[in-house]
Amino acid sequence: MLIVDHLSKHYATPRGPLAILDDVSFTLEPGQSLAVMGPSGSGKSTLLYTLGVLEPPTSGTVTINAQNPFDLGEREQAAFRGRTIGFVFQDHLLLPQLSALDNVLVPTLATRPASPAELVARARQLLGDVGLGARLDHRPGELSGGERQRVAIARALVHRPALVLCDEPTGNLDRTAAEAVADLLVALHTEQQTMLVAVTHSPTFAARFGRRTEIADRRLHDIP
Ligand code: ADP
Ligand code: MG
Repeated sequence: MLIVDHLSKHYATPRGPLAILDDVSFTLEPGQSLAVMGPSGSGKSTLLYTLGVLEPPTSGTVTINAQNPFDLGEREQAAFRGRTIGFVFQDHLLLPQLSALDNVLVPTLATRPASPAELVARARQLLGDVGLGARLDHRPGELSGGERQRVAIARALVHRPALVLCDEPTGNLDRTAAEAVADLLVALHTEQQTMLVAVTHSPTFAARFGRRTEIADRRLHDIP
């Protein structure tokens, strides 16, 4: 479960603190999904980075599966992030010299798994799930934008994360590819009962989430 409690976030700037989020609270349970909308610069990525333990809150707490990751030391925090959270960004951020399969396995390198064979099987399975079972050996340059983003989804799920965070995952895709990626994200989220938080500008994508919220004036406003 994800518990966001009285979260505020300011950035320090040369002109003083820049307030982005002010007293934000919400919870999300396994199998639940939240779409985050709002204009450019409203703080959507900031919220996602804070949930993803990439940016510390200025005040308030984020609790993920009973752990406040900001209480952990740097190494434990990185390990927690790797184990618990999967990220999908607007740009796929795949490594160009690696195959699709190796890209999906990248997050597992840091954790030195006891059973790599099991992880390779999981990565193959996930690439099959996203429709790329025949493209395991292809490098990102040999894949379309939508296919690359599907590899990025498989990579985000390889560790069976409790929480999946997506920052405009369909933002760079044409409509058909965007719909395919949206379908996959929702299907895999439902199947694996992850918690899913995705930033999107697309009302049709947002409509497929259990809850929708808009950031305005540093607060979250539920969209019915
Ligand atoms: P969104 O994703 O909704 O477009 P962001 O969360 O990226 O918005 O940014 C919200 C605001 O915070 C913007 O005005 C942005 O310029 C500012 N901002 C983002 N990151 C930093 C940072 N590291 N330092 C200072 N200001 C930042
Ligand atoms: Mg953003």
